[in-house]
Formats: sequence, C-alpha cells, structure tokens
Amino acid sequence: MTSNNTERVLIGIAASPGICHGPAVLFSEGQIDIPFYSVSSEQVASETERLEMAIIATREEIIQIRKKVSATLGEGEALIFDAHLMVLEDNALISEVLQYLNERKHNIEHCFHQVVNRYINFFKNIEDEYLRERVSDIRDVERRVLNNLLGKKHADKEILHSKKIIVSDDISPSLAVGFNKDTLLGFLTDSGGATSHFVIMSRSLNIPSVVGLHDVTKQIKNNDYVLIDGYEGKVFINPCDETLSLYEERANKQQAIELRYQKELLEECVTRDGHTIQLMANIEGTNEIEAYKRSHADGIGLFRTEGLFLRHNGVPSEQCQYNEYSSVVENAEGKPVIIRTLDIGGDKLLDGITEESFLGLRAIRYCLENIGVFKTQLRAILRASALGDVQIMYPMISGVEELDKVNEVLNEVKSELDGSETPYNRSIKVGAMIELPSAVMVIDLLASKVDFLSVGTNDLIQYLMAVDRMDDKVSHLYQPTHPAVLRSLKIIFDGGNQNNKSVSICGEMAGEPIYTALLLGLGAKSISVSISRLAEVKHFIRLMDLEQLEAVVQDCMTMERSGQIHTKLEEFIGSIS
Ligand code: PEP
Ligand code: MG
Repeated sequence: MTSNNTERVLIGIAASPGICHGPAVLFSEGQIDIPFYSVSSEQVASETERLEMAIIATREEIIQIRKKVSATLGEGEALIFDAHLMVLEDNALISEVLQYLNERKHNIEHCFHQVVNRYINFFKNIEDEYLRERVSDIRDVERRVLNNLLGKKHADKEILHSKKIIVSDDISPSLAVGFNKDTLLGFLTDSGGATSHFVIMSRSLNIPSVVGLHDVTKQIKNNDYVLIDGYEGKVFINPCDETLSLYEERANKQQAIELRYQKELLEECVTRDGHTIQLMANIEGTNEIEAYKRSHADGIGLFRTEGLFLRHNGVPSEQCQYNEYSSVVENAEGKPVIIRTLDIGGDKLLDGITEESFLGLRAIRYCLENIGVFKTQLRAILRASALGDVQIMYPMISGVEELDKVNEVLNEVKSELDGSETPYNRSIKVGAMIELPSAVMVIDLLASKVDFLSVGTNDLIQYLMAVDRMDDKVSHLYQPTHPAVLRSLKIIFDGGNQNNKSVSICGEMAGEPIYTALLLGLGAKSISVSISRLAEVKHFIRLMDLEQLEAVVQDCMTMERSGQIHTKLEEFIGSIS
C-alpha cells in the first residue's frame, strides 16, 4: 500500500466528509484535440476502415453502458442509449462523412467532426423542442467515436472497472451522475467551492471529496496512491505508514461517533428545552429513497429534480418524470414531499440546452422561456400530487411578476388536467425559494402570494456577496456568517412571520451544526438537510437550548465581522458537545 516516494500534503476545501485512500485516476472532461491533415487517394480505403472499426467499438461501448444503466437505474433511463445507437448508425450521416473524405481527402477524424458539426448546427436551429434536444445525443456519440478513432481510452470506462480516486480540474453534475458509485472512492478537483452542485451530489452519495485544490491535476499522476481527509480538506500523496495508521484510527473513531448519531435517528427532533424542530431531507432522486427511509426524516424538504434531467442529458417525458416523482411520494409514507421545479443552468448543464451562467437563463427563468418543458414537469408533479402530500417549490424567484407568471402557467396546467379528468390535489401548496437578494427585499410581497417560503442559502450567499459558488479563488469570501447574511435571514424570518407563512431552510448551511444553531436562534422551526448530515444535525439540535441560543444569536447580530460570529457559534457548539 505504501510507496517509497515522499509524502506530500495538499490543502483544499473540505467538501464532502469521510476518509478514503487508493490509486488515483486523472480525468478530464475537456475538449478533444482533433488532428487535421491530408491523406492520399490510396489512404481513403484505410481511413474508411478506421471509421468502420471506430463505429463498431462505439456500438459495443454504448450497448454495455445501456445494459449497466438498465440494471442499476432502470429501463426508462436506459432508453436514451437507444437514441445514441440510432445516431451512430444513421446511414445518411455515415455516407456524408465518406463523401466528405472522398472529396476533400482529409483525415477521417476531421471529416467526421465537420459533418457532425453541420448536423448539430441544423438541429440547434430547429423549432421543434424535442428535435433540438437531440444535439446532446449527437455530441455524446461524436465524443465516443472520436475517442475510439484516436485510440483514447474513455475515462468513464476505466473508472467503471476498478476502485479509484478521481482527480479532475472540475466535474460537472451531469458527469457525476454517470459514475459507478461502487468503484468510486473519492473526488479531488482543482476548482469548485463547498456548495458547488457536484459537491452537494458527492455529499449525498457519501463520497469523500476535497475541492479548490488549484493544481491537484498537476500534482497527482495516474496510479499515485492518495489519501483523502474530507473532514479537514487534506490530501496526502504517497502517504507514509504513520499517516495511514493515524487515519485508520481516525476513521474508526469517526465511525463510532457516526454510529452513536445514527442511534438517535429514532428519537424526536426536539431541543433540550422542548421545542420541536421539523427536520426534513434533501434528495436528488429515487436512488436516495432507501437512505431517506432509514433517516426517519419528517419528509422531503427539497427534491432537486435536475438529477433526472442530467441523467437523461435532456428532457425526460412526462411519464418518465411522473414515475420518478410518484415513486418518491409513495415511499414518503404520507409525509410532505416538496418538489422543486427544474433548476437547470449555472453549473447544471444539458448539452445544447442550457448556458453556464449563474446570472443567465437559469432555473425559473429557463422554465418561463421554455413553457413546453415547464408544463410537462408541472403536469407530472400535479399527477403525483394525487398520491400524497406533494408541494411545489419554485427556484430563483426574483419578484412578484415572475411569481404571477409561474402561477398562471400552473393554473393553465391544472385546467388541462381538469379537462381530461386527471386526478390531482386541487389545493396543492405552492412555495417560493428565497435565494436572491431581490426576493429578500420584497419578502412581504412574495409571502402574501405563496403558501410557504424556503431559503436557499447556497445561492443567497452567492448572489448577496457576489461570490461564484464554484470559484475556488474567491471561496474565502463565501461567508455564511457575514453580517449581511444574518441580516438578510432576519428580514426573511420577520417577513414570513408577519404574513403567517412558514420559513424553512434548505441550503447546505442547515446541515452544519454551527450554522444550524444560528438558524434556530434566528427563528427557524423547519430545516431540510442532505441525508448524510441528518443524524449529526439531529444530535446537536437535541443538545441545544433555544432560549440560550436566541441570546447567543442576538449577540452575533451586534457583531461586525464574519470571523467573530463564527467563533461565537463555535464556542456555543463546543459548550454543548
Ligand atoms: C440553495 O441555493 O441553497 C439550494 C438549496 O438550491 P441549490 O443548491 O440546488 O441551488
Ligand atoms: Mg439554489
């Protein structure tokens, strides 16, 4: 297990807790370098043969992945690969590539890329939404064929087959959903912040991760032996024997602590002085249902629906969405399930559909520009509402006009369902996420138009402080205890109370005991956290005295600096541990 090389330590952002060690594999989602050169007339036959061989290899690859996805995620999810096979075997496309080769006499990779690009441009500009979305399928197939032509191993193939720590410059959520969890030990990335969506996913999968390491892809080579301390954000390259045994001890201790927390899951979530706190779970899809049941949470406070779209790399059909939502609702045992409408864009990207900007066409903005996609989702959610306590929540609401528009669309969908006598809950509760500074400033107006409010602190901090939650270079400015964050939260709680609307918190802050304390002291009666954080959070809530905590938070409200507030909260948690 050890190596003769000297141990080196890197420090980054502790993103997902846990300790793991094993060989590293470098992974890059980057662009493929496509060579460009001329070929002679004699070489045309061999270039044609190279293309045929690459298509055969790609076909085999897609069939294998399809089988795997069908076995692990279900047949519905596997259908996407049938579409990939159709693209791969499209005779018109192949004939055009061969014609291009014969006419231009360029290497086959270049010919293939040129023709595929023509297809992509054609599909991109098409009116029909469904056909437009085929761009991502074509891109995916192109990437596979080019990798086979260039003799490059697909990183995902390698990763699927043996236990590895993945080292990458960045990992997109759409890629993260495709990794094989059984062989995935941990993640290390150059970029990223503690609330990047990929990080949230790795937390929900219990995969130890350290991000924001700046140049880890340069520091680590394939097969270097690496140890990750996801609690403290440390990475040991070629760990020595002492480090390995120290961490073995730590991992055992941590396991004992976690077992102790787990035992409390069956207990009520009540503070030491008798106040009940609603403790709900954040989930990304049906794959977390079993863990949700074991958590004994008070319901699902945030169901991020993007996971399903990312796994499809496109828009799933209404029936496919209904299957996913209804399966979650049926397993929630009558407890509330708050389904958040599509929050795509920002760092959650669908090829050819969304843009990489947190300030652009993200979340509700995307949905209002793509009413077809939005209505399909609302129909699927409403249909699932006939099966349990489903509630709808809109992400990234900026003000009243947007909320009115969204509710208009919801009413249209309700009328359509009435027309076809499709059952749904007519008095379904509707809530808005409060995650933009503008929403904080008009909290009274928004509160009067919804049934509940839920604070997305991940984005609220990002937008309030103008700190990209993905950017490791400014992660030190991403401060949950900044006085501006505390004041904003106070405004939100006051606005909710004055309008008799419940205010829940579903951002990552709620899952960190020192911030849980802050939120409870500010007045939160309901929080929703990643399932992996739930046991520890419940343990600490049961140790807290709300009256004492309110006094601590009142003190915090008078402080000028983030660091002071942080220290005060740490002292409080230390005093009750
Ligand atoms: C948030 O912004 O806090 C939130 C819960 O939503 P997401 O992390 O998915 O943006
Ligand atoms: Mg958000």
